[in-house]
Amino acid sequence: MTIHILALSTATIRRAQEVISSCEACNKEAELPFDWVLDEVTGCDRSTTDYFLTEAARCPRCGYTIIEKTLVEAEL
Ligand SMILES: [Zn+2]
Repeated sequence: MTIHILALSTATIRRAQEVISSCEACNKEAELPFDWVLDEVTGCDRSTTDYFLTEAARCPRCGYTIIEKTLVEAEL
């Protein structure tokens, strides 16, 4: 199986960040990995896509740095 590496633009990261309401640092209920949100925003499939964040996303509630495996709460 081929894994594609997708470098995410700032605009895409912003869009993903807009659907996040909180993260594992400020919300114990957060259970969605951020890359799942990225699948929704980009229309890609994480089983064949590795995301590369050109800049870190930030939690809108606490400002924590969010990377691919950070657990978040999102409104999709
Ligand atoms: Zn947070």
